[in-house]
Amino acid sequence: MRVEVLTLFPELVQQLTTVGIPRIASESGALTLVTRQLRDFSGNRWNRVDERPFGGGPGMVMQPEPLAQAVAAARQECGAKAPVLVMSPQGERFDQQWAERLAKEPAWIVVCGRYEGIDERFLASEVTAELSMGDFVLSGGEIAVMAMVDAVTRLLPGVLGDAESAVTDSFSAGHLDHPHYTRPVNWRGKPVPDVLLSGDHKAIAQWRLANALGQTWLKRPDLLAGLELKASHHMLLREYLSEYASQWLDK
Ligand code: SAH
Repeated sequence: MRVEVLTLFPELVQQLTTVGIPRIASESGALTLVTRQLRDFSGNRWNRVDERPFGGGPGMVMQPEPLAQAVAAARQECGAKAPVLVMSPQGERFDQQWAERLAKEPAWIVVCGRYEGIDERFLASEVTAELSMGDFVLSGGEIAVMAMVDAVTRLLPGVLGDAESAVTDSFSAGHLDHPHYTRPVNWRGKPVPDVLLSGDHKAIAQWRLANALGQTWLKRPDLLAGLELKASHHMLLREYLSEYASQWLDK
């Protein structure tokens, strides 16, 4: 997968490939992260890409032409079909479904804003979608892009050591991940649930599913509301919740 990031801070975005899964993915060739310095497309000798807003007001606005030129350059490498995304607090919320969708694209292009944002005419002409990290305002799109590329990279075939782990992660089946435990077996008087030590793979899988559904009900009921639960899942959740309720009442 080729990702082209158009930014005023390419060195920040490239940091992503220096550690962890994105590093492994770029070393193996699964991820090619290309950054382009927007100032290289300024068309002026001061390398300036921002101007004051028409109508007055604080801050600076990124001009459309350098952005369009940078997108055109990226398109030459990515092809005409590559989506062009813009990071924006006004965008659609980036989520696991977006990550899965982008993981299927051979190439995509992302624009990072800075300052007050981007000239509206660029957004209206060149852009497939605006994407947001959430209802808060960052000072630039770079950290948002890094989060996004990270989330997409771990879905690429062969990137995670254990392909199973992306399948059981939160959101991939519409609910949260199950709880995890590791050594020691007893930590400060708190034991690991017996079933996880039993070696009974079927019982473990049932326990995990019941806990994944139960934790989702407790922490993110909004996710369950959008999910069609199978009858067997329904039963697991019912058992989990009745156990949870009796423990709570016995306290
Ligand atoms: N004035 C704009 C915010 C500009 S912040 C507004 O209120 O809508 C500067 C840049 O940071 C934006 O152009 C965008 O690229 C990035 N950014 C800020 N918050 C973001 C968020 N929640 N998600 C994604 N990108 C964000």
